[in-house]
Amino acid sequence: MTCIFCKIIDGSIPSKKIFENDELIAFHDAHPIDKVHFLITPKKHIENLISCSETDKDILSNMLLLAPRLAKELGLKGFRTMINSGAEGGQEVFHMHFHVYGGSSKLAKI
Ligand code: 5GP
Ligand code: ZN
Repeated sequence: MTCIFCKIIDGSIPSKKIFENDELIAFHDAHPIDKVHFLITPKKHIENLISCSETDKDILSNMLLLAPRLAKELGLKGFRTMINSGAEGGQEVFHMHFHVYGGSSKLAKI
């Protein structure tokens, strides 16, 4: 197995874990771009949004619903969510994940 995030999920690569259940895991990003920056990822290896199908809709909605809950637990009053999909979308780790970050006084307008 060569997927970094699968290795984080099976515990063979350490991470600063925030949340885990049967379906999802969340952990702090190794290279945070804000005061708080964590990733939510499914335990099932799905490459990205492009490869998702109808069967993944529960995973996707549970990932989104987890974001505000964990952000609040980490003290954020607001946050930005980013999902990079495919190399041309800036994705570097090809195991789907949602970035959740915030905590600086003002995020850049996009
Ligand atoms: P992508 O560009 O694929 O959307 O984002 C991948 C993210 O994973 C990057 O923000 C990067 O810092 C993070 N990352 C890569 N390898 C590791 C790792 O081994 N541990 C953790 N915690 N984060 C990682
Ligand atoms: Zn994987």
